[in-house]
Amino acid sequence: MKKVMILGAGYAGLRALRELQKKTKGFEVTIVDRNSYHFESTDLHEVAAGTQPWGKITYEISDVVNPSITTFIQDEVIEIDAKNQEVHLKDSGVHQYDYLVVSLGFRSETFGIPGAEEFALEMIDIDSARKVHENILAAMDKYKETQDRKYLNIAVCGAGFTGIELVGSLVENKKEFANRAGVKKSDVTIYCVEAAPSILPMFNDELRKYCLDNLAKWDVELMTGKAIKGLKQDTVVYADGEVEKELAAGTIIWTTGVSGSEIIGKSGFEERRGRVMVKPNLTDPTYDNVYLIGDVSAVMDPETNRPYPTTAQIALKMGAHAGRNILSQIAGQPTTDFKFESLGSVASIGNTHAFGLVGKINVKGYPASFVKKMIMNKSLLDTGGVKEVMAKGRFDLYR
Ligand SMILES: Cc1cc2nc3c(=O)[nH]c(=O)nc-3n(C[C@H](O)[C@H](O)[C@H](O)COP(=O)(O)OP(=O)(O)OC[C@H]3O[C@@H](n4cnc5c(N)ncnc54)[C@H](O)[C@@H]3O)c2cc1C
Repeated sequence: MKKVMILGAGYAGLRALRELQKKTKGFEVTIVDRNSYHFESTDLHEVAAGTQPWGKITYEISDVVNPSITTFIQDEVIEIDAKNQEVHLKDSGVHQYDYLVVSLGFRSETFGIPGAEEFALEMIDIDSARKVHENILAAMDKYKETQDRKYLNIAVCGAGFTGIELVGSLVENKKEFANRAGVKKSDVTIYCVEAAPSILPMFNDELRKYCLDNLAKWDVELMTGKAIKGLKQDTVVYADGEVEKELAAGTIIWTTGVSGSEIIGKSGFEERRGRVMVKPNLTDPTYDNVYLIGDVSAVMDPETNRPYPTTAQIALKMGAHAGRNILSQIAGQPTTDFKFESLGSVASIGNTHAFGLVGKINVKGYPASFVKKMIMNKSLLDTGGVKEVMAKGRFDLYR
């Protein structure tokens, strides 16, 4: 009986599990995650802003486990010893495997900016996203006590895809924040600080303009071309030309970038920022029985000669591919190479506004927000199946 282990029940890990569970003979699977639930990382900004309860973007991992071949262990992965085919878990010790899928996802990248770890909130899982929302509400309470204007300021560091989606959801919940502080909605200010001169280089001018026009209409203070030099308590220090300036804010959220799980480097894989340049079949360059997929993996895009960006879309595709390749290996068949063609990407700015590319076609406004929700439902379907779509799917099309 071959032993397959999957580390991490995010998009990539659960998609691999679904593929493996299509066959039920000749192997057993163990899937490990630190949480009892899977969370939709693409919706974390909504929990952080308080526009969705965390239960809406999670479901129990046991719901998608077929107990006749799969065991779920809720535990923390400490280290992988690929040479000895072992995984070290915090509470349940050492586990042996024949085939391993590493899908441990992302962590926040501070790029060594002083004070970022200490004074900014990250948004990488359910706990950290909930902390952001709690911090905003606590800051609004502090404003009531102190009348210090800084508590009404929310600073988002980074205007990439995640930062902009977060800003959109924060705008949507400004009324709740203002009510809590006992002020007008216009008194709560959302800042977005970005080193690059413009935002979202992956989108064309028309889509960027749609986004920028809306942010301006919603009074978002978009501070592009302002490199963050450091953070202090309730303060973002940034460069304005040659001059260093400070922005005071009761809530500071860090969304400048991500790298792959720290377990990758700690386990001795050849990596860069927690990502391994895998072979075309998605296995590690040294170990043919170790698949690295999702945000811990780097696959070259032959068009740009750079690794594909890490997204849920590619993580899902890699999960399915790794699952199929492991089934082939168990059956003594050759593996196949991974091929990826992006279906485009759509960024939401609040519940009813979005913009992006579907294939090569621009979509924006309400139709784009509809497309975005259908994309979310599709990824729920890919990991959790119809049951989870019915229970947790996004059908809030008109709010
Ligand atoms: C706010 C936000 C919005 C986004 N929007 C989009 C979008 O619109 N479209 C898109 O394609 N992508 C989007 N992304 C990117 C996307 O979420 C990631 O690329 C995707 O989650 C990667 O999938 P994964 O399976 O590799 O990892 P994850 O989904 O992060 O799953 C990793 C799993 O591993 C578990 N884990 C981690 N470390 C350990 C450990 N040591 N022990 C045990 N378990 C562990 C975690 O609990 C988690 O369940 C967004 C990301 C964010 C944060």
